Amino acid sequence: NAMYRAKAKGESGYEIFNPEMHARAMQLLNLETDLRRAIADQAFCLRYQPIVDLASGKIIGFESLVRWQHPDRGLVSPDQFIPLAEETGLIIPLSEWIVRSACEQMSLWSRDPTLPADFTMSVNIAAASFQNPRFVHELDQALTQTQLSPSRLKLEVTESVLLENIDSVRETLAQLKQRQIEISLDDFGTGYSSLSYLKQLPIDTLKIDKSFIDSLTEDGDASLVEAIIQIANSLTMTVVAEGVETAMQRSRLQQLGCGAIQGYLISPPMDGAAAENFMRTFQPHDWQHG
Ligand code: C2E
Ligand code: MG
Ligand code: MG
Ligand code: MG
Repeated sequence: NAMYRAKAKGESGYEIFNPEMHARAMQLLNLETDLRRAIADQAFCLRYQPIVDLASGKIIGFESLVRWQHPDRGLVSPDQFIPLAEETGLIIPLSEWIVRSACEQMSLWSRDPTLPADFTMSVNIAAASFQNPRFVHELDQALTQTQLSPSRLKLEVTESVLLENIDSVRETLAQLKQRQIEISLDDFGTGYSSLSYLKQLPIDTLKIDKSFIDSLTEDGDASLVEAIIQIANSLTMTVVAEGVETAMQRSRLQQLGCGAIQGYLISPPMDGAAAENFMRTFQPHDWQHG
């Protein structure tokens, strides 16, 4: 950030500071201090958003999404602190908390005989966490301690993970595969992953980024969405469309052969109790003929 960059220039670096830069740097520094404390205090919570299969109308999983319960700012969205957590290395302990908490919730649901037995929990994993050499070990520990079957867990990584250290990424993916943990490529289409990697790596699901789904309007251009669905189908990967908000988007996705959808049309992310209630009461026709 600005402050560190200025410092790196030496003593005189401070002279180029203007008041706005100073204010911004102080803000970041305060945020970092708050984030450090929040990790120590475990001041986070998870929300869960359902993912629904288009053909059957069934809930096939939930995605866990982290929130920071900030004393003054209320619930802070991850876009406002995950990048800072990545920059400061705080993402490693934060990720551990997230993985453990998502496993705990999924473990409770998986041991409830009155709930469906065939849905998964998807957890977002930042590139730095995925590339951490201790990642799989920590994951094993979380699974053991929460008594969760690995096959109920799914990990979401972005294409940025595939850009560095491809050999170690391949090795990690193989270890996950051994455990029957599935992998989704998140925000697909916004990154730079090469199609040949896509073919070589054991990726189960492509998630089409919301920015592409937004173009599915009455007279919008569906060609990119169509192309992504075709790529996925030809590589026998499943496809999830993210950020589906309208019945029209849902029906166009269905026509295009998309497997599953996630978005406000079905539900916003919910706390654990609401998500559980949603599972018990969800009726496919609530949205199928919307
Ligand atoms: P993502 O993984 O692509 O998650 C989808 C985001 O879209 C979520 O935002 C979700 O609330 C939002 N969303 C879902 N349906 C709709 C819709 O119909 N309309 C609109 N406008 N938005 C929708 P959220 O929860 O703010 O998360 C933002 C990003 O932060 C995530 O994007 C992910 O990259 C990151 N993130 C969230 N939770 C975690 C986490 O536990 N660990 C890590 N490393 N990153 C996380
Ligand atoms: Mg995600
Ligand atoms: Mg996404
Ligand atoms: Mg995203």
